[in-house]
Amino acid sequence: MPTPEKHALLSASSASRWLKCTAAPRFEEQFPENTSEYAEEGRLAHAICELKVIKHFTTAVTPRTFTTRLNKLKKDPRYTPEMDKTSDLYRDHLTEKAMQYDIKPAVAVEVRVDFDEYVPDGFGTCDCVMIGGDTLNITDYKHGKGVPVSAENNPQMRLYALGALKRYKPVYGDCIKNVCMTIDQPRIQDEPSSETITVEELLAWGESIKPIAAKAYMGLGSFCPGEHCRFCRGKAQCRARADQNTALEEFKDCVPQNGDKTPLFGQGVLTDEEIGDLLIRGKELVKWYGDLEEYALVSILKGGTIPGWKAVAGRSNRTFTDTDAALNAAMDAGYDKSILYDLKPKTLTELEKLMGKTEFADKLGSFVVKPLGKPTLAPLTDKREAYTPAAADFAEVLSNG
Ligand code: SF4
Repeated sequence: MPTPEKHALLSASSASRWLKCTAAPRFEEQFPENTSEYAEEGRLAHAICELKVIKHFTTAVTPRTFTTRLNKLKKDPRYTPEMDKTSDLYRDHLTEKAMQYDIKPAVAVEVRVDFDEYVPDGFGTCDCVMIGGDTLNITDYKHGKGVPVSAENNPQMRLYALGALKRYKPVYGDCIKNVCMTIDQPRIQDEPSSETITVEELLAWGESIKPIAAKAYMGLGSFCPGEHCRFCRGKAQCRARADQNTALEEFKDCVPQNGDKTPLFGQGVLTDEEIGDLLIRGKELVKWYGDLEEYALVSILKGGTIPGWKAVAGRSNRTFTDTDAALNAAMDAGYDKSILYDLKPKTLTELEKLMGKTEFADKLGSFVVKPLGKPTLAPLTDKREAYTPAAADFAEVLSNG
């Protein structure tokens, strides 16, 4: 199973953070590495992807070995049938990519790459490298479904690409002219996200980040809070982040003051412009507060003390210790089974699994619609299309049609 990039101080996966907050890597060293259930699930999904891609593109595993290894991975308690689907999609996307080459490309998986020419001690692992003609393709599989990750201007992918260029230069020399970087996140994005740039552009980018990486590595960096704090190990205890979120200056200019310095807050109604601005400014504040809450709860549950706070039991619902026994008791008391049990139809997903994709599409496809999701507020920079009542009405017509 792939191992996480444990020992690189300036890892590719954290580059979007340390390129903005150069103090982060050394600051984070004092906090233990986070291992989460999600990370472990991701590692298992990666291992399944790796196996399928090896089987598809190489002769390194016999069908029998493939089945044995896949079955072993499926015995992992973290395995879910969804992993089988997403790894199939990943393999299919790579197959489509390979078909874009005029001649069958060379394919390698889980490739260790060094980008230490640009980032001190920098190394990482590319999920898939494909080379042919004048193009190098690198693909990263992401199992997370929290935030969609774009390949555009993505420093993690660019660092991998720099490492892959270096690794394959002895074989391909200067033949490679273009680099295509792809992030495949099949659980939340139907199509992978890709960016293609020339080798010159990539090398120039590598040169541009060298001084930043050197600063971060030597511990000479400065703190710069922002959205990138999200995955920082010190996000709850970072003083710079707290300073920024408690600085009233952050909010002071967004609501204009009138002549006698009485805040307009007290006098009337906020304008929509002011509300839009406040929502943007307050976004990080809300996230930061959530991180503080999470830190405090974990700390108290571990036996620590956070002055003024304690842990309490949350809301819970009553439940039977043994549902079958309870219902049997109800039947013994004279209640008929048909009153006690509901006959429920299987869900769409369960039926698809039961019938298989092809038969499901053939027999039930015409009954399937995908209504618009509930409207949710998002900043203008969000890539999703804006929700309009007209689009919702149209979706309604389609569902009824
Ligand atoms: S929490 Fe944010 S500002 Fe603080 S070290 Fe981490 S990335 Fe930098």
